[in-house]
Amino acid sequence: MTFSIHGLAVARGIAIGRAVLVASTRLDVAHYFIEPSQVAAEIKRVADGRDAVVEEIQRLQTSISLMAPKEKTPHEISALLDVHLMLLQDEELANGVRHWIKDRLYNAEWALTTQLEVLVRQFDEMEDEYLRERKADLEQITEKVLRAMRGVSSPLVQPPVRQGRKTSQQDLLLDDTVDVPLILIAHDLSPADMLQFKQSVFAGFITDVGGKTSHTAIVARSLDIPAVVGARLSSHLIRQDDWVVIDGDAGVVVIDPSPIILAEYGFKQRQGELQRGRLSRLLHTPAVTMDGQKIELLANIESPDDAASALKAGAVGVGLFRSEFMFMGRHGRLPNEEEQYLAYRRAVEGMQGLPVTIRTVDVGADKPLDDSLRDDAHLNPALGLRAIRWSLADPAMFLTQLRAILRAAAHGQVHMLIPMLVHASEIRQTMSLIDHARVQLDNRGVVYGPVKIGAMIEIPAAALTLGVFLKYFDFLSIGTNDLIQYTLAIDRADESVAHLYDPMHPAVLRLVANTITQAHAQGKPVSVCGEMAGDTAMTRLLLGMGLRSFSMHPAQILAVKQEVLRADTAKLAVWAEGVMMDDEPSTRISAKA
Ligand code: PEP
Ligand code: MG
Repeated sequence: MTFSIHGLAVARGIAIGRAVLVASTRLDVAHYFIEPSQVAAEIKRVADGRDAVVEEIQRLQTSISLMAPKEKTPHEISALLDVHLMLLQDEELANGVRHWIKDRLYNAEWALTTQLEVLVRQFDEMEDEYLRERKADLEQITEKVLRAMRGVSSPLVQPPVRQGRKTSQQDLLLDDTVDVPLILIAHDLSPADMLQFKQSVFAGFITDVGGKTSHTAIVARSLDIPAVVGARLSSHLIRQDDWVVIDGDAGVVVIDPSPIILAEYGFKQRQGELQRGRLSRLLHTPAVTMDGQKIELLANIESPDDAASALKAGAVGVGLFRSEFMFMGRHGRLPNEEEQYLAYRRAVEGMQGLPVTIRTVDVGADKPLDDSLRDDAHLNPALGLRAIRWSLADPAMFLTQLRAILRAAAHGQVHMLIPMLVHASEIRQTMSLIDHARVQLDNRGVVYGPVKIGAMIEIPAAALTLGVFLKYFDFLSIGTNDLIQYTLAIDRADESVAHLYDPMHPAVLRLVANTITQAHAQGKPVSVCGEMAGDTAMTRLLLGMGLRSFSMHPAQILAVKQEVLRADTAKLAVWAEGVMMDDEPSTRISAKA
């Protein structure tokens, strides 16, 4: 019987295939009491299982480090592997397991899952969303240890690679026994599993849990594979080998589709493939509107290796290099000046003369460091010590980053972007630290280059006091992800209020439009680098507001370019003015200009 499950759309496209369930081994572990004479052997069984998983992860880390640059995996995967190693080696886990075996005579598996429950409750009580999300990591590593104890390797370590699979919908309908695409379904997926997923034939994935900003979702988006997260109970409701359709655009999963539905999605899938094919023809077409306005389409990247995909997608530069991914998951050992310099230089050289905008570190909120020396457990981390606030609170760390960026600027066009500024005093402090970094380099006789310095406008207070920003900065970049969050008081990482996170809210649109107008009035470049820039539903409105520079995930560049090529900015400006006056602009935005 056909039924559907609704979740959160994280990565676009349609995938159709048979379900491969990764069952939770936690629920079906054996529960029995052991003899006192067996205690040492049971403790050793857990230790051996854990050591096997540690070795597996270390092997994976080695293979990542040996990958050719073009195959490099997203930086966050390596960071998360570090987190898994740290959790596996945690004393509290080992001591707890020993306690349950020695004092209660639980068998090894029972002891391990009992201690897992103890730790899970502790994670549940944590305020910090990042730490709460580590609960899923703890569950994943426990499952791996359980599998290792049973002598079963991870089902994802050896994905079922099949030769000569048929993908045409007609083939699937005609011949049920042929090799078909596989859809992975799991309660949750670790980034390490996602790594295997990248190299396998899995055509999409579905998880029960996870928000749009979970690490798995981030990795999925960067891999551009159809995916739905937060599809609660999917791993219970879907059976092994069921036919499953993932609509990654709508966030819908259809199970056991009838032939008509299957044919419909097959059609949609082919349409998507054709559309991608058509878009690829625009790669070398300049992004110029029908009325001759040149539009700058830039890429957002997370690591220097992403420069290759930015170039491949036709980006004319990097509008946002989120440098904080280099700072995360390092257990407090932050990258030193040399390491940062080499990374920024690699990004700059990778872009082959095109400009690279390096944003200074933006940790905090949903991107905290795992630095145990810092207390990130604030009541509301999104309003806490985040981004530039964090940098200004640790001038030595900030100066290290500023020197590294200035040095990289000797190798190409570098712009420096400062996140989350709101006070004039923060601006002045930042500027004086940049000057100080230059003096430090001069004193050391180290070569550095010129940089343009820009501010992110991502707090309503900043968007309403642009004068001071325009006085000090060479350019502005509008961070709509946070601007929406802070304007509407909606936590962008909280799936329970995701339906209220509205890029088309008139307050948001007015702040964006005002920023563009005022920057241009002063002759200063302004771009949008939040998700809004890559959302084709918003392209015409942003053009109508006067925006000429968009920075987005490389996979979105061609679709936005298509909108640009069809646009007449003069007409859109008139239309946009009407939209801006509307108290409920969303219907107008989806209607034609
Ligand atoms: C934003 O807030 O829009 C932005 C681009 O920065 P981040 O998503 O990294 O907070
Ligand atoms: Mg932001």
